[in-house]
Amino acid sequence: SGAKMRQGRALRSGKYMDPEADVKFSDVAGLGNIRVELEEIVDFFTHAEKFRRRGSRIPTGILLCGEPGVGKTLLAKAVAGEAGVNFFAISASQFVEIYVGVGASRVRSLYSEANQNAPAVVFIDELDAVGRTRGLTAGSGGQERDSTLNQLLTCLDGFEGKGQVITIAATNRPDILDPALVRPGRFDRKIYIPKPSLQGRIEILQVHAKSKPMGEGIDYRAVGQITAGMAGAQLAHIVDVAALAALRDGRTEVTTDDLLEAAQNEEGGQPDLHIRSDRVRRILALQEASMAAMAANCPDMEDIQLMSIVPRMGEEKGFVRFKADPLKFGYLESISRQGFLDHITVQLAPRAADELWNGADQISTVASDNVDIARKAARSFVRAGHSDRKELYGLNSGCWYRQRSIWDVDVEAQKILESCYARALEYLERNRSFVNVLVDRLLEKGSIWRPEFLQLVEQYAVLDKRRSSP
Ligand code: ADP
Repeated sequence: SGAKMRQGRALRSGKYMDPEADVKFSDVAGLGNIRVELEEIVDFFTHAEKFRRRGSRIPTGILLCGEPGVGKTLLAKAVAGEAGVNFFAISASQFVEIYVGVGASRVRSLYSEANQNAPAVVFIDELDAVGRTRGLTAGSGGQERDSTLNQLLTCLDGFEGKGQVITIAATNRPDILDPALVRPGRFDRKIYIPKPSLQGRIEILQVHAKSKPMGEGIDYRAVGQITAGMAGAQLAHIVDVAALAALRDGRTEVTTDDLLEAAQNEEGGQPDLHIRSDRVRRILALQEASMAAMAANCPDMEDIQLMSIVPRMGEEKGFVRFKADPLKFGYLESISRQGFLDHITVQLAPRAADELWNGADQISTVASDNVDIARKAARSFVRAGHSDRKELYGLNSGCWYRQRSIWDVDVEAQKILESCYARALEYLERNRSFVNVLVDRLLEKGSIWRPEFLQLVEQYAVLDKRRSSP
């Protein structure tokens, strides 16, 4: 194919041109200011003459730095799409050939194609494959890389098409690039593209949802929350998989559950189950299982969506996620007295399970975060006037001159904790086999989804009678 390439080719029918690249900035989400920076580049294209007359230096190269899948290619396409110019793309790993001279000739033909079709954007992915500091690699591979790199530098400097062809390159390793590449007049603009924030993830999910038959009131925030650490490419994939799941089930609308399930299964967001020792996984499974089992007994909390012992970025341990508004328990004052007590009891369940399963003298610190949450909630409970000592209502814990009352709150809160703890012990003792089934399932599969959970509740749980009352 090397021989064919040297023959040159007709306008607008090149090997490197991507005619499908009709991407606009509105397709790129969650990148905030970065988009604005690239909009400037578009201005150079659309008003090149004006900039030249003013004597402004027109950029030749822009370096987009960031991990795979964060949208570097998409952004480069959007620059071309918004400016209405042609887009040429190649991955630098294709430059690196065993035979000396092949890489360099590919670079030449790429740029000659772009120049003939100017104005144009040339996109070079994985620039570090060719742009590594020269001389680092010994042997003929290194020599080949040098000749390719030299050719690329020549093309970047070339006067032909200056200001008419802009090169955008992508890399995840800007630190190892040859200094000659980042000199002024070459890739002298460096833009970092981070992984998306929570808000960014929500926006990216929404952009991709636009072309899908989404149901009403999708909870994008919930999906954003369990996808911490994921890049745009993974979020796009989640939306695709969710839509396929709906299709497969013969449903006409994609639901929040579809998205959550797809998110849970998305690779890359789900690190290897086996990086944790069996002992740690067992501890986590018991913790999550006991909370979920306890919650099944509480009318306000039984809406369990998912429980998991699969670690995720930003989540040290496993988690039980409730279907109810995740913010609900952030505003404890707004829930009922019984709901309050249920919340405290659920948080104490891991400690109670630890005592029941491992013995009172073996209690670990795994449950201590939950105990802290329970203790805080118990104080709020007292201050909300729910306890027997109504006069403690509204007490501001920040008042130093009311130390005595603060002590009273703590004493009262401790009583609440003790009675909730007793309730957790009693309930879990009664539900040993239910909890054991949950633990086994978690160890085997990593997570349990709502439908399966409900089935297990039906089959194994021994619930309080009180449960059906409001
Ligand atoms: P990179 O070049 O950084 O490896 P890509 O641009 O190829 O990543 O991203 C792959 C796909 O992921 C895109 O085609 C798009 O569907 C999706 N994607 C990534 N980032 C974003 C984003 N910020 N907004 C919308 N979609 C995105």
